[in-house]
Amino acid sequence: MKVLGTVKEVRDQVKRWRARGLSVGLVPTMGFLHEGHGSLISKAVEQNDRVVVSVFVNPTQFGPGEDLEAYPRDMDRDSAYCESLGANVIFHPEPSEMYDPDFTTYVNMEVLSETLCGVTRPIHFRGVCTVCTKLFNIVKPDRAYFGQKDAQQLAIIRRMVRDLNMDLEIVGCPIVREEDGLAKSSRNEYLSPEERQAALILSQSIFLGEKMIAEGEKSAEAVKKAMTEKINTEPLAEIDYVEVVDGVSMQPIDEIKAPALVAIAVKIGRTRLIDNTIVSD
Ligand code: AMP
Repeated sequence: MKVLGTVKEVRDQVKRWRARGLSVGLVPTMGFLHEGHGSLISKAVEQNDRVVVSVFVNPTQFGPGEDLEAYPRDMDRDSAYCESLGANVIFHPEPSEMYDPDFTTYVNMEVLSETLCGVTRPIHFRGVCTVCTKLFNIVKPDRAYFGQKDAQQLAIIRRMVRDLNMDLEIVGCPIVREEDGLAKSSRNEYLSPEERQAALILSQSIFLGEKMIAEGEKSAEAVKKAMTEKINTEPLAEIDYVEVVDGVSMQPIDEIKAPALVAIAVKIGRTRLIDNTIVSD
């Protein structure tokens, strides 16, 4: 497995693969990889002849005062993990390789990016759409893999690919959780032992919402209220949002019907965590 740092190196490598008729999968990540990322990489290895994992903490998707500098990094461990899963290349560029000093072009999505995480992180999805467009243009993959953990991101990427006629398939992969239910996240690293325990309130409230819906509850208001009350029993938790939205448009709905998305963002101490569940038929 190779670690490549420049756009040219990746393009040259992909061209050599293409000349041999090989298919290419891309897994975009910010590194500090865990089994959530691992599930995407394994799926990509299964479905493509060659797999590129990008490891790039993308500055344009972090707002002022967010955790860009503090974001955990461990390239040695990430490389060993990607190699063990059968990936062929890690693309690990410096920010200056991706963004020229006079960079001025962004991909901005309306509507879908204005709810949920877009409310407290107004420039986040502009950064995500921009960097994913760049990665798609650099790697030109047949397929790119995204986790349901970031459900709004997945919906936005699907819409962007459709709206802009990007020539690749987006593959969504289910949320991977710790044994006790907490959704795996690189940001779990920030949690103290006490906060790690408190963070269980996220998955517990998601499971409560799932149970109510499975038992026939159709009112988004009732589900949101019960989940909010549950989260508020945890003194270290501070709610950013508890929402029920349409799973495609990301707009709030009153009556729960598939494909709905029940999504939450909660701060545990200084760490903002997200979780969700999809309502299917
Ligand atoms: P990140 O490095 O956090 O930007 O995540 C890179 C990709 O991995 C995104 O598509 C995430 O949705 C996905 N991912 C992160 N955590 C999980 C998880 N626990 N389960 C499934 N996918 C995940």
